[in-house]
Amino acid sequence: MSANAATASPRRPVTVIGLGPMGQAMVRVFLAQGHEVTVWNRTPSRAEPLVEQGAVLATSVTDALRANELVVLSLTDYDAMYAILEPAADALAGRIVVNLSSDTPEKAREGARWIAGHGATMLTGGVASPPYGIGDTENMNTFYSGPSAAFERHRDTLGVLTRTDYLGEEPGLAALMYQLGMGMFWTSMLSMLQSVALANASGLKAADVLDHATSTFGSLGTFTSFYAERIDAGNHEGDVDRLAMGVASAEHVLHTMADAGVDTTLPATVVEVFRRGMDAGHAADSFSSLLEVLKADRTAA
Ligand code: NDP
Repeated sequence: MSANAATASPRRPVTVIGLGPMGQAMVRVFLAQGHEVTVWNRTPSRAEPLVEQGAVLATSVTDALRANELVVLSLTDYDAMYAILEPAADALAGRIVVNLSSDTPEKAREGARWIAGHGATMLTGGVASPPYGIGDTENMNTFYSGPSAAFERHRDTLGVLTRTDYLGEEPGLAALMYQLGMGMFWTSMLSMLQSVALANASGLKAADVLDHATSTFGSLGTFTSFYAERIDAGNHEGDVDRLAMGVASAEHVLHTMADAGVDTTLPATVVEVFRRGMDAGHAADSFSSLLEVLKADRTAA
């Protein structure tokens, strides 16, 4: 045995259940890093290219679970987990199930209880990377939460997918951090499409506004830092921006979209929230005072 082989940490075998774009990317990276990988998918044909690369296709969920202690789930949601694992629940005992499927923090907590009820341990994961970022352990990260001993046991293996960001024992935490990020992501990307719709209606292509879009999104870090500090200090002072200015600006956006004949759902919603802030008496405060509007539980009314 070479000195390197003697000191290298062992490559633990892993089962991956769920072979959408994300699960497939994970299997490829595990294989490339020298892990033995057992796979299972509802639609078995999706496993074919992975089997050609060295993965073993289990013939049943039970076999997939029995193959390895570490079981990674990459599914559309937690309902898919129950659909797959319930009929094979007897094979769960002793497994460490790392659920990298998106869902709510409450679904993650319920899932962790259900898995524990079958003698296994669940770690929740929230993958903050597109499939093509899997394997980029410098720039991409995944949030994890759940029992720390289970996380520590498989930290190195999970760490070949992306950087690992362990948040604590509470199973909902990773899902919370993930959904919080996705809320920003989807709203931001929809805003990008909205602006491209306007650009297109005005004879411009997405490429024509790409630099502007990139620098606008790039500047947001400065704003988020500035406002986060003030928000935590309870400071909504209107010394830098006033909501009365903000609502006028948001209306200019809405009117520009309407004049161009593109859909106005998104900009109209922005204006509506700003107007609610005005109605609540925040005209002279910063736009950050809209946080108070957003925190109010409207379903309770
Ligand atoms: P997909 O929805 O494309 O595929 C997920 C897998 O879930 C497939 O293997 C599918 O099986 C399986 N599945 C769904 N419903 C059921 C069911 N009822 N019973 C059995 N199997 C089911 O997701 P992705 O691969 O794109 O993503 C996986 C997870 O990662 C998701 O939770 C997603 O939100 C998250 N994620 C995805 C990113 C992305 O860019 N793709 C980025 C970050 C996170 P089948 O092949 O048979 O349809």
